[in-house]
Amino acid sequence: MAKLSIRDLDLRGKRLFLRVDFNVPLEKKDGGMVITSDKRIKASLATIEYALEQGAAVIVASHLGRPKGKVNPDMSLRPAAARLAQLLGGKVKVAMAPDCIGGQVAQMLPEPGEVLVLENLRFHPEEENNDPEFSKALAALADLYVNDAFGTAHRAHASTVGMIAYVSKAAAGLLMEKELQYLGKAVTNPERPCVAILGGAKVSDKIEVIVNLIGLVDRLLIGGAMAYTFLKAKGEPVGKSLVEDDKLELAKQLMEKAGGKLLLPIDHVVTESLSGDALEGTTVTVIPADKLAVDIGPATIEAYKQVISGAATVIWNGPMGVFEKPPFDKGTVELARAVADSGATSIVGGGDSEKAIKSAGVASKISHISTGGGASLEFLSGIELPGVAALTEK
Ligand code: AMP
Repeated sequence: MAKLSIRDLDLRGKRLFLRVDFNVPLEKKDGGMVITSDKRIKASLATIEYALEQGAAVIVASHLGRPKGKVNPDMSLRPAAARLAQLLGGKVKVAMAPDCIGGQVAQMLPEPGEVLVLENLRFHPEEENNDPEFSKALAALADLYVNDAFGTAHRAHASTVGMIAYVSKAAAGLLMEKELQYLGKAVTNPERPCVAILGGAKVSDKIEVIVNLIGLVDRLLIGGAMAYTFLKAKGEPVGKSLVEDDKLELAKQLMEKAGGKLLLPIDHVVTESLSGDALEGTTVTVIPADKLAVDIGPATIEAYKQVISGAATVIWNGPMGVFEKPPFDKGTVELARAVADSGATSIVGGGDSEKAIKSAGVASKISHISTGGGASLEFLSGIELPGVAALTEK
């Protein structure tokens, strides 16, 4: 179902409540907190600029970290507000509120063309509890609501779901819209052949994704540690590789359901341990009892590249090996290059896959890198995200 977009709203002279995901990483420095990556602020910059250009007064709201319902100065959104002001070129008045509701905030409400950044929503336990009174208080600040926080859309909180009951219209921001467009098309009507690449540590984290994708994709390429639970379930030796023994039966069922669609590594890079500086691996087709597999091997890379090169859509979540520790990043980086060169519509989710894409230097060739790890996994699992479901229909 199509949701209202910020582009469908008449913003002129209106006060807009814009829920963003400014959950930026912070580091203590010289007694204050500094932002170590402003990627999330930049991701919503187009939406904020659009709203300002259209003549709205913009109230920006977000959570940051896990303050557990208590005020924690180390998790203030103040540094994010300062960074936003810089990114807006110093031409826009960006004020910082001491709280997200209450009398002081009411006195600071912005004029058209101005921005007010509210303090961390999660300083109030009512945010995560989706409290109706708190929701009403947030809604009372503005005329219209826009959600651009895709990364939090899988949570039914006051600022993502509750307050929508008390606003006249709730629309998706430009970032949210892009996420829904790419992920939505991929899980409902992908160009075929559609290939999914799934990796990472655990089968258990991605069961629903695997189940949903089995019904959707033409090929499912499995790598990372989760491959060894599948291989063990097939009766193959896995040595000391990471395996979830309580998921073997499930892995068997998933393989039966997937039939020939599901591909597993045919060779492996193994090592004795992951500690030490000079890490080295050996390629094997049968994993020795005293070794653990840490990456897909060259024959698997070739086989997976073949499949990827013929794809029209590629969905990727999770690394193919212990990619944080070169040379065990080879499988992940080679597949990142193959995805970039395939010409397919490519959708990458999860922080690790994104890092791999960046370290392979191919980020600009990926159609869409999702900003929401957990949210994109839930989306790929076929679950309707509450923060999306709550938005007004077109
Ligand atoms: P996830 O968060 O589920 O996407 O998992 C990512 C983590 O899986 C990364 O930290 C990788 O180091 C780890 N990982 C990938 N492949 C393996 C492997 N073969 N053995 C152990 N850990 C792995």
